[in-house]
Amino acid sequence: MGSEHILSLTSIEEYLRSLPRWVRWRQWLSGRRYRIARFSDRATPLVIVAHSFRDAARARQVALVVEKDWAEVPQPCRDAYDAILFHAPELIVIQLRRKNICGCLGHRHVAVRESPFAEPHEAFGGARVGEMDIAYERVEAWSALPLSDTALDVKFLEGSRLKEFHAKQLRLKLLSILLHETHHLVTSNESEESVRARSLAFYRDSLASYVEESLATLSLTIDRSFSRFG
Ligand SMILES: [Zn+2]
Ligand SMILES: [Zn+2]
Repeated sequence: MGSEHILSLTSIEEYLRSLPRWVRWRQWLSGRRYRIARFSDRATPLVIVAHSFRDAARARQVALVVEKDWAEVPQPCRDAYDAILFHAPELIVIQLRRKNICGCLGHRHVAVRESPFAEPHEAFGGARVGEMDIAYERVEAWSALPLSDTALDVKFLEGSRLKEFHAKQLRLKLLSILLHETHHLVTSNESEESVRARSLAFYRDSLASYVEESLATLSLTIDRSFSRFG
């Protein structure tokens, strides 16, 4: 573990391209696609979103969460997951689904099932691989903090920003679940209660900070447009 292996987005992309032609064909025909994302402030973990070609837009949202939203949440929120991400497997495969039969938002997997990543390969440079699934439509329908979520809706109800707010809210939910399952991967015997407390606090605080910032810029814009008539 640690930093001695050189794990890059390109090396994983090359690895996927170097798979035997029949394997790639079989994947392609079955509709399997991969999207790779990295956190902007750390080399690992690299996140591989394994998805159906029908869910390319959803996979893009998950990648955006890793590449952009993570960097925009307040530092204390990121700090709460610093050690967890540091100890996490260097490669994390997310099996992106629409629903889970059991109704869960996501699970950590005890073993890696996604075939290109299930066996160690020299392209991984000794990196450990972890896997989870996330059920996108379940996350969309999930009200993480029912009371405050509704209260926030009201703040944005007036503006065209409600749609933008809901999109950001969904991405922060996805991010908190990704972190939640990563936490499970790292400390497999920590209680669900304590893992959940941390991910809900992350969601609540990062959403609150987003709302605060957007309301501040919103009122700034209104002030400016009024002052033009002054
Ligand atoms: Zn379940
Ligand atoms: Zn859990």
